[in-house]
Amino acid sequence: MRPFAYVRAVDVDAAVQAAAGPGAKFLGGGTNLVDLMRQGIERPDTVVDVTGLPLDRVEELPDGGLRIGALVRNSTLAADRRVRSTYPVLSQALLSGASGQLRNMATVGGNLLQRTRCPYFYDTAAACNKRDPGAGCDALDGFNRGCAVLGVSDSCIATHPSDMSVAMAALDAVVEVRNTTGVRRVPIAELHRLPGNSPHLETTLQPGELITAVELPPPLAASSRYRKVRDRASYAFALVSVAAVLQVNATTVQQIRLALGGVGTKPWRAREAERLLVGAPADEAVFRAAAQAELAAATTRQGNAFKPALAVATIVAVLRDLTAEGATLR
Ligand code: SF4
Repeated sequence: MRPFAYVRAVDVDAAVQAAAGPGAKFLGGGTNLVDLMRQGIERPDTVVDVTGLPLDRVEELPDGGLRIGALVRNSTLAADRRVRSTYPVLSQALLSGASGQLRNMATVGGNLLQRTRCPYFYDTAAACNKRDPGAGCDALDGFNRGCAVLGVSDSCIATHPSDMSVAMAALDAVVEVRNTTGVRRVPIAELHRLPGNSPHLETTLQPGELITAVELPPPLAASSRYRKVRDRASYAFALVSVAAVLQVNATTVQQIRLALGGVGTKPWRAREAERLLVGAPADEAVFRAAAQAELAAATTRQGNAFKPALAVATIVAVLRDLTAEGATLR
């Protein structure tokens, strides 16, 4: 591992000051960063340890929403009574990710910023524009079974690996960010970038900016569900996942928030499907047509050509189950 300076931040201001120079990385749970440093893929000059900062609380907001500190552990958040009762899609997404041991370490802020699991990104002998800009992309014509079909470019087709971020996309979460000049709030839809010609730039965060919290708006009067389709029942990344928040009034879709994992280069908010579903009959044919419209923009490769059909089937199954359970009838 390459030598680096280590700074243990005593407060948030000190953390952002310490990270203001080039080549700094924040250390939270370390479940992704430390692995990447061992492999020489991440090579920070300075590691700013933020694990001692008071960002580990889940608090209720006056408007009925929740404020989740960036250092709240994934397992803590998944088990939180308020999350389980009012944002079950988030709890389910968290519990579907990684392993129990990793969830005990991984933080909310780190989960949002975790790097792709594209195998070529981790293989320093392979060409990878994300790891080495301009090098090429071995996944385009290589092993791309797990790769994205939405938001892809000729430079990169890697998926964003987070389950939690998909649920937060469906919940319209807002990310609170601190820098040396103050605080800014970033809607989660604007946090992650599409790869375009610069897949090494994965978020809209500026160097040295620290995620301090995530805020969830008040819950909708709706039911929610996260379903993940993967090669193994546990400890596997999504081939396709669906986060849905659905309210049906009599037989009509009143409100729908739909996000997809495993198919997009970022947590994928399914805006086109939502547009077609609001006000439409809550039946399977409508669900299928909306899902197909969302996936119409898919660009597939030899190894992942199955994904659009799998995504459509998973969306339909989730919406059908939520409707059939009747919990959304109001
Ligand atoms: Fe790298 Fe992206 Fe290509 Fe994977 S898909 S090899 S991460 S550039």
